[in-house]
Amino acid sequence: MPIETMTDAALVFGALRAAIDQVDQEILQLVQKRSEIARDVGVAKRLGHLPVYDAKRERDHRRALVESGEQLGLPGQTVRALYDAIARSGVAQQLALSHTPSKPVQTPPDSDDYRLARLEPGRGQTIVSVGEVRFGAGMFEVIGGPCSVESREQIELAADHCRGLGVRLMRGGCFKPRTSPHNFQGHGLNALDWLAHAAHSRGMAIVTEVLEPTDAGVIAEQADMLQIGARNMQNAPLLRACAKTGRPVMLKRGPGSTLKELLCAAEYLLVEGNAQVVLCERGIRTFETATRSTLDLSAVPALRELTHLPVIVDPSHAAGRDEIVHALCRGAHGVGADGVIVEMHPQREQALSDKRQALTPHQFAAITSELQGQEVR
Ligand code: PEP
Ligand code: MN
Repeated sequence: MPIETMTDAALVFGALRAAIDQVDQEILQLVQKRSEIARDVGVAKRLGHLPVYDAKRERDHRRALVESGEQLGLPGQTVRALYDAIARSGVAQQLALSHTPSKPVQTPPDSDDYRLARLEPGRGQTIVSVGEVRFGAGMFEVIGGPCSVESREQIELAADHCRGLGVRLMRGGCFKPRTSPHNFQGHGLNALDWLAHAAHSRGMAIVTEVLEPTDAGVIAEQADMLQIGARNMQNAPLLRACAKTGRPVMLKRGPGSTLKELLCAAEYLLVEGNAQVVLCERGIRTFETATRSTLDLSAVPALRELTHLPVIVDPSHAAGRDEIVHALCRGAHGVGADGVIVEMHPQREQALSDKRQALTPHQFAAITSELQGQEVR
């Protein structure tokens, strides 16, 4: 190439780069302007006692933006990714406003056994990030999906419903800890492939249970969050193996465990250097027979006094039947939980596990529209 042509090319290239830099600067200024407006909206919402996040408005607005983008020739995926990042920062600004701690933090008495998990002056609330979700940041999260991943078709259908309802983290059991060995035990790693594909291709993250310490690594390659089930809460080798993957962990309370035992189990994860831990109350064993377990809602505010870890509630396994799951979700929100994990099956009558407690997509929609994205109390 002749020298002068190269120089011309360099000049044009330089000018184009300068133009791009200029546009990027303008985008930054606009994002900053949007943040300021978002803060003002946050103040107005607080004064009016309105929730920070309105799932329906967000969905409608996002859809309208994607349509406008497409008219400009921009791919929907690009507009969605841009909008999600910008909207997230706006909501975070609003939540920051409303989360000023009301009481001075005190170290719980007799808490040396769980000294990493306990509340301590100067130690802030832990925020656990899973995909777009921030447990502990003040926004109530509704996790949904079937008890078990049963087929590619079932989980794709479930994912369609979840995505349409604003779910950002999907559940689904691949390795199932069933009470009887004669019952369906899960489709294992095949199910994990189906679940990961169904959720990730729709922009959702996944949480799934690990049963064997030796499976933790391979499951963590695809799962955004690992679940340690109630039956395994005190399985130290499993806790260590899950912690070591570095993935966030959802730790369920054993049906016969005290809160101190739950916190000591969490400590096993924390001592491995993994602080991304969410605790889950899922019902305890009592003499009551009207429900499968007794949901211990008092565990939520009691844990708030003891630990900096986020706390969610599983009303499905506690209730054991669909009729009262919605009411328990309201209770969970009312006592200050960071979210709920709910079982929903796209074709309930065909469920291979926990059919009695599975919600239909319609029942599940009533919960997401009421609670997803609400401010944590
Ligand atoms: C589950 O989440 O499917 C499950 C088996 O829950 P738990 O460990 O609470 O019984
Ligand atoms: Mn289940």
